[in-house]
Amino acid sequence: MIDPHVHLRDWAQSQKETLAHGFSVAWRAGLSAVFEMPNTDPAMTSRETLQRRIADADRALESLDGAGGLFHGIYGGITADPDQVRHIAAARDELFPRVVGLKLFAGHSTGRMGVVTVAEQDLVWKTLAGAGYRGVVTVHAEREDLLEPERFSRDRPETWSDARPGLAEIASVQTQIALAEAAGYRGTLHIAHVTLPETARIIAAEGPGLPFRLTGAATPHHLMLTREDRQIVNPPLRSEKSRSELVQSLVRGDLAWLESDHAPHTARDKAEGAAGLPGIPGFRRVAEELLRGLVSPERFEAITGGTVREVFDLPRDLLRPNPLAREGAFGAAEYRELAREYPLDPYSGPWCASC
Ligand SMILES: [Zn+2]
Repeated sequence: MIDPHVHLRDWAQSQKETLAHGFSVAWRAGLSAVFEMPNTDPAMTSRETLQRRIADADRALESLDGAGGLFHGIYGGITADPDQVRHIAAARDELFPRVVGLKLFAGHSTGRMGVVTVAEQDLVWKTLAGAGYRGVVTVHAEREDLLEPERFSRDRPETWSDARPGLAEIASVQTQIALAEAAGYRGTLHIAHVTLPETARIIAAEGPGLPFRLTGAATPHHLMLTREDRQIVNPPLRSEKSRSELVQSLVRGDLAWLESDHAPHTARDKAEGAAGLPGIPGFRRVAEELLRGLVSPERFEAITGGTVREVFDLPRDLLRPNPLAREGAFGAAEYRELAREYPLDPYSGPWCASC
């Protein structure tokens, strides 16, 4: 199993989580690989920071009993500077498969990596196309100009979803598709953490007609939780109707895979309103609890790693099987044990009666 979207912190944010801790939890959840996002502190936006991260991660993996078999892939971060975009695309090609792809924050989230204006995004896609980049670009798609921060009130956390409306996601996805197509982009455009079935339908409908590959993914929290669970996360949780239809989007294949968007914080940071939830235990829990009953064994394999291997073009034999991935090895007790490693458990809602 592969979780292709995690934020492992460390460096200046080691109070939130360290690489070694994240790797240990990932291995115990049965994963063979995690792909890490670049909005670390400092951000992974240069060849030098990527190489420093790889060295630190290798040391962390070596220090771990058993978890040393985990594959750690990382993303290079895209900024609004075309020279940096060329540099990071070349670094990805040079350091692939360890550097698996590039990340574009087409909307601000945690960190300061937003490339938020359409003019800046247009330049990014043109630069990537001009450089002949053929790898994956994963996009956080929320249109900054459609956010309505004044609709959020701290004593009603469910209003986070009003402040970051679904229209901001849909419009950003449409913008990124149009810009990439106009630029002549020929790699893969991946829409991270889709929150709405409408977005999933756009991806499924438009993908086949495009000159590049278009994919989307769902997270455990958008599949299992609703705005009424009052968790602060970007992009936000939606209604129960959207949640249940999003499950069908993944089952049907409108969305390609499951990704956790694991983003742990300290209890104090959460109390102060930090956006993000721990997600690696939830990734496995959703796989076991939800998907096994809903999809064929083949589709299950595709959703939890097979399609990622294919789309990222990972070399055969890169990943080692994790013995803890065997069917039925991760039940409510195992989930509880791993969830305790983080200051809050987002999955104590009614869906998981046995948790
Ligand atoms: Zn993320």
